[in-house]
Amino acid sequence: MNIGIAGAGLSGRLLAFALASQGHQVSVFDPAPSMYSPVAAGWTAAGMLSPVAELESGDDNVFQLGVRSLALWAHIVPRLQQEVELHFNGSLLVAHRGDEGAAERLVSLLKAKAPQQEQPQSLSRSDLNSMEPAIQGPSHTWLLANEGQIHTVQAMRALAESAPNVQWHWSQPVTSLTPHTIHTSTSSHTFDWVFDTRGVGARDKAIHDASLLACQNVRGVRGEIFWVKAPGVKLNRPVRLLHPRYRVYIVPRAPDIIVVGASEIESEDRSAVSVRTTVELLAAAHSILPEMAEGRIIHTDVNLRPALVDNFPRIETEDGLTRINGLFRHGWLIAPAVIENALKSVFSSDYSLSQA
Ligand SMILES: Cc1cc2nc3c(=O)[nH]c(=O)nc-3n(C[C@H](O)[C@H](O)[C@H](O)COP(=O)(O)OP(=O)(O)OC[C@H]3O[C@@H](n4cnc5c(N)ncnc54)[C@H](O)[C@@H]3O)c2cc1C
Repeated sequence: MNIGIAGAGLSGRLLAFALASQGHQVSVFDPAPSMYSPVAAGWTAAGMLSPVAELESGDDNVFQLGVRSLALWAHIVPRLQQEVELHFNGSLLVAHRGDEGAAERLVSLLKAKAPQQEQPQSLSRSDLNSMEPAIQGPSHTWLLANEGQIHTVQAMRALAESAPNVQWHWSQPVTSLTPHTIHTSTSSHTFDWVFDTRGVGARDKAIHDASLLACQNVRGVRGEIFWVKAPGVKLNRPVRLLHPRYRVYIVPRAPDIIVVGASEIESEDRSAVSVRTTVELLAAAHSILPEMAEGRIIHTDVNLRPALVDNFPRIETEDGLTRINGLFRHGWLIAPAVIENALKSVFSSDYSLSQA
């Protein structure tokens, strides 16, 4: 098939990789100036793959999409032409003495929502010490044994570079799309099928306009993130600090980088990180990882998570056009399974992304 994709973010790149690997002719349109311009939210994300921890805000559907996606990432990453860090060493939830009330409420919620084999396991101080000697200070720790993380920057590059014979149209924002057709400001292109994966860019009218489809009624949720270069600080898995006022996570990333994130603010403001977020997130991260004090903040980033009214993902298919949106704060966790479901809706119910 001859396929057009609007948007070269996480969903667009995964689709392009899957479809081009299966021999389809694929063209992708995006306003970013090049394949390596970090415009999409996919570049900014920390890359936590946390089906259980995300049950705090997600439902069983998000959980199931996450579990399926972990298996799909394990299939996709070895097929990419460049190395992409992907680890499944579990993740930790930690809380300081005095914050156990809020922490235990969250852990009880996760226990109620997660199946038996995915339950959070309480760890002793000596367990924590042997797993993560650099972590100091928390009095309570739980292990989520089957969680993981992916290096999002490596994966964004590798997905695009590994998709064979794709025609990339950079600096070409899609102005509108209809079944079988993508319009830019200078031309119209006809395809057998069109996919809309523009994230926040899929909304071309005022939010909540009655004529918008669910996938277009998208809002951006601001997230701020920090990269700290901290040679010698060894962390083996992502760690979330459960705090009554904010959520902070720390994700190790090669080479010698610790990603600290992320604020979640109901705003489409893309301006630089705020003093408040900097102080709160870095102070909280330092309170459990004191060795990072001498690290260097080498990068800060701000982006918008694409969220629909109910904060859940959605696929809308009509003849010649499929819209995918609302991946919100768990895009890396659920994208492979969401893309697989979108392709089932186009090809057949037994389509599998592991054929790619
Ligand atoms: C700070 C932060 C931390 C996060 N951490 C995690 C995490 O740890 N784990 C996790 O699972 N998820 C995380 N996420 C969420 C994840 O990044 C998103 O869910 C995911 O990127 C959404 O993918 P998408 O393809 O729908 O949108 P995007 O990745 O934003 O891609 C949208 C693409 O559409 C393009 N576009 C926009 N307008 C147009 C137009 N008019 N024409 C053509 N193209 C257009 C954009 O340029 C972009 O390339 C995080 C997000 C943020 C911001």
